[in-house]
Amino acid sequence: MSKTPQAIRGTQDIFGPDAEAFAFVVETFERVRKLYRFRRVEMPVFEKTEVFARSIGETTDIVSKEMYSFEDRGGESLTLRPEFTAGIARAYLSNGWQQHAPVKLATHGPLFRYERPQKGRYRQFHQIDAEIIGAGEPQADVELLAMADQIIRELGIDGVTLHLNTLGDGDSREAWRAALVEHFRAVKDELSEDSQERLEKNPLRILDSKDRRDQRFVADAPKIDQFLSDDARAFFDAVTSGLDAAGVKWTRAESLVRGLDYYRHTAFEFIPDEGSEAAGKLGSQSTILGGGRYDGLMESLGGAPTPAVGWAAGIERLAMLVGEKRWPSIDDFPIAVVPIGASAEETAQYISSRLRRGGFSVEMAFRGNVKKRMQKANSANAMIALIFGDSELDQGIVKMKDLESGVETEILLPNIPDDIVGYLVEKVEAKKAASL
Ligand code: ATP
Ligand code: MG
Repeated sequence: MSKTPQAIRGTQDIFGPDAEAFAFVVETFERVRKLYRFRRVEMPVFEKTEVFARSIGETTDIVSKEMYSFEDRGGESLTLRPEFTAGIARAYLSNGWQQHAPVKLATHGPLFRYERPQKGRYRQFHQIDAEIIGAGEPQADVELLAMADQIIRELGIDGVTLHLNTLGDGDSREAWRAALVEHFRAVKDELSEDSQERLEKNPLRILDSKDRRDQRFVADAPKIDQFLSDDARAFFDAVTSGLDAAGVKWTRAESLVRGLDYYRHTAFEFIPDEGSEAAGKLGSQSTILGGGRYDGLMESLGGAPTPAVGWAAGIERLAMLVGEKRWPSIDDFPIAVVPIGASAEETAQYISSRLRRGGFSVEMAFRGNVKKRMQKANSANAMIALIFGDSELDQGIVKMKDLESGVETEILLPNIPDDIVGYLVEKVEAKKAASL
């Protein structure tokens, strides 16, 4: 017998409740991004390697060790996208999207990074992503963050806080960088090997180190606030007061930097609070959403200086936090249609299609006796069932059974779907009220 091939390490086949939670994240993202008037884009899954190497930065983990790069048959070096932003920036430049600036873009899909697979960390994972390109105003940062906050809330995720920092403008960042090099050089021998290497090339990244040996020296490292120019400070103040006005809770995180080179000004992550249920579910892979302002990125790809800000969130990590506590929607409670006998089956198709065209989900079992079909209705989470055989149809009615209370009523055929829908909507509203 031949052997079934194994899935690639770090990939997942997602099914059942996990797949539903995944879809719920994407649906919520799609709905909310429309409220904020972000336009949908679809991006290639692979790009020329230089798109990522030049923008993300050669010394970052992503470019130095996580990319899936290969030569195609024409001898060109290509890379499976490890993030969305660089590809979107490339598209912005190559398609002349400047004419739409400022442009608000949203997308989602798979990304690829060669990492050590573990809970919440995969080699193929998925992100939702939002970018505002061509807007240098702090209000763009605020709107982008307000959208992230609303998505997380509408997913029913509690105990997650926005950690916010500024990296300042180019000058502030350079001055801070020099001070960090001086600070860490004094303790160089005690740093992790990785950080010793980062010291000259990319000292900000030492602040992001998860190694205990480094973390001891991060706490008293120089803070960006000492080096902020007046403009950079005013920018950050406008972001924080805008967030307050929009009702977005945040906390200042002075050591927060991001693992990519292109950030300026605002940098942020949404992180589960210590000891919260969310933190417990995610284990050590705790950041669910990260991003910031990347005013330097377009230039690295040969474009004119272009202010931009964006974020990305891991769909798998969000899906792990969704849980049962989500806001109930009418789609969660299908109407069960249970015909008894052959001629009733045809009427069942008629009734089901009327309900579905009216926007309601219907569960109809194709096989088994009435008992089996009722079991199927219950396991599908149906709240009401429509049950009918020849004798009901002769009278022009169907029986409507409330599967929670057991109460049965008769509905006249011409009153489908209105009477059923009215009844169901009332029940869902009651559930929503109870879940508040
Ligand atoms: P981490 O510090 O966890 O490695 P990162 O800084 O590399 O995260 P980003 O590049 O900012 O992550 O990506 C944004 C989000 O994408 C992360 O917050 C996380 O939710 C998700 N993500 C990143 N890498 C992975 C992965 N390998 N598997 C699953 N989700 C991921
Ligand atoms: Mg990473």
